[in-house]
Amino acid sequence: VKAIIKDSGYLYRTIPFGDSSLILQTFMRGHGFTSLIAKGIRKKPELAQFINLNQYEFTFYDAQENELHLLKELSPLKEQTLYNKPESWAAADCALELYRQMIIPLNETGQYYGLFVSLTGYLENCDKNAILIWWRFLLKVFQLLGIPYNTEQCSFCEKLSLDMTLWITGTGGLVCSDCGESHFGSPGLEPLAPLSSRILGLLPQIGNHIQTLRPDAASVEQLNNLFDAYYTSHFNTQLKLQSRDVLIQFYP
Ligand SMILES: [Zn+2]
Repeated sequence: VKAIIKDSGYLYRTIPFGDSSLILQTFMRGHGFTSLIAKGIRKKPELAQFINLNQYEFTFYDAQENELHLLKELSPLKEQTLYNKPESWAAADCALELYRQMIIPLNETGQYYGLFVSLTGYLENCDKNAILIWWRFLLKVFQLLGIPYNTEQCSFCEKLSLDMTLWITGTGGLVCSDCGESHFGSPGLEPLAPLSSRILGLLPQIGNHIQTLRPDAASVEQLNNLFDAYYTSHFNTQLKLQSRDVLIQFYP
């Protein structure tokens, strides 16, 4: 007899399987990314109304080796409105796509799960500029990963500054205006647009500025490149997020 397991989780993707079944890719509080097979569910339309990125309680049978977990039942955990907001939706999808590329130890999935719960809470209440919430989320992920990114610290003099003028393309590090003067035009350094600098400085308290701070296409590209460089310099692998390509289309 296989054990029955209950866990709350977000539905990430569904994939048709055979004639009538579905494979549900989920991110669960206690189990991390887990695939469940829902047998025969496509013949029961009343049960097959799944919405990606919604939170459910999943009940499933524990799998033997090399088997998929078999879904017993699932129930929505709360009313969610994310699917009405394309930009917020893309930002949340980005977050799960990022998690999927990381190796999250099983004993830490709860922390990442909690971070995602609060992210979706912010995104459900956000009408515009969701990319700001995505960037702040990224800062929190860096913190959980043990590589905190300090948006206020100059990589050269290590002083705190809100006036960064350059960034280091190899590491994503920031250079303050004092240090920047003597390094302007040096290889491996790129000018940081004033808007990018302002956004970085405000990210830790971005909730207060979400209505008024509007990133333009150039700052979106620059900050994405900067965070990519930071991630790559620590993990030797590139961030490839398809949902981010969707997200940036809101910043033409
Ligand atoms: Zn400096």
